[in-house]
Amino acid sequence: MKTIRLEKPEHFTTLETAFPSEPSAGEALVSVQKVGICGTDLHAFRGRQPFFSYPRILGHELGVEVMAIGSNVTQVKVGDHCAVEPYLNCGTCIACRNGKSNCCESLQVLGVHVDGGMREQIIVPAHKLHRSDSLALEQLALVETLGIGCHAVDRAQLSAQENILVIGAGPIGLSVIQFAQVKGVNITLLEPNAQRAQFCQKHFNISNTINKLDNIETDLRNALGGDLPTVVFDATGNVHSMHNAFSLVANGGRLTLVGIVLDDITFKDPEFHRREMTLLSSRNSLPENFKRIIHLMETGEVDTNPWITHRATYDQLINQFPSWLTPEAGVVKAMLEF
Ligand SMILES: [Zn+2]
Ligand SMILES: [Zn+2]
Repeated sequence: MKTIRLEKPEHFTTLETAFPSEPSAGEALVSVQKVGICGTDLHAFRGRQPFFSYPRILGHELGVEVMAIGSNVTQVKVGDHCAVEPYLNCGTCIACRNGKSNCCESLQVLGVHVDGGMREQIIVPAHKLHRSDSLALEQLALVETLGIGCHAVDRAQLSAQENILVIGAGPIGLSVIQFAQVKGVNITLLEPNAQRAQFCQKHFNISNTINKLDNIETDLRNALGGDLPTVVFDATGNVHSMHNAFSLVANGGRLTLVGIVLDDITFKDPEFHRREMTLLSSRNSLPENFKRIIHLMETGEVDTNPWITHRATYDQLINQFPSWLTPEAGVVKAMLEF
């Protein structure tokens, strides 16, 4: 079957691999129709993805059709269209026992730690499939990306009318904005890249944008009637931004780090204590996020139209992929179509 594999940094190949065998009990065989490309894939391509080994078949944002099911599978039937929750968890560690499968102690993410979906067919645990009768396969391939923001917003426990700051309007920041809007909060965006800020204004109705980095605290207080935001989401994956974000949180507020960096992040404890700040990280998402996102897409509360900016077929992907790496390309979400 058709397969795209990342052999080493900067080097994809297309190759023929064997079709999977029959699904075992609790598993489903699915045909991969759409594969979203994200920052994780771009970092893997550049050789900058931590804890990553080559060769690897990428692809963790999948829109699939069920081809066959093993015994004891009740969640899906042949022909169903599904999003795939790519977080393969052990089911027995403390996190799994507490319902936090997103941060399982031995988590394996499809397309990152184990081979993923850039191939015609894969076998997955059936309970990792989330079906929809009405969404397009392309929309289903967006659910995983949206889950990052959905879970981060849940972590921060937003209440309506609260002032929040989102730092960074890449895909992760956009997914935070998308679900923060569902909560009815007042969003300010900090984004120095004019193209990205304009995209947010046009497609997400964000009018409150700060684009200069030299006087952020004053700019925020001016915009928010003298206050700082009670919740700050950092979606930059930039250590300087994450470090600085501590100083942008209101007293009694929460800071949620959505993006991740390899560096240490330090903060001044008296400032942290003076604010009685709550610091949160957010990793991946939960099965209930997948179900909720699919529902919000089906009802139209979450509009996926702005998301997909670039597309490539199986034959085009290897040539087109490098052109998606630069900020000038304006890629929000690129989609591989099988
Ligand atoms: Zn992703
Ligand atoms: Zn576990």
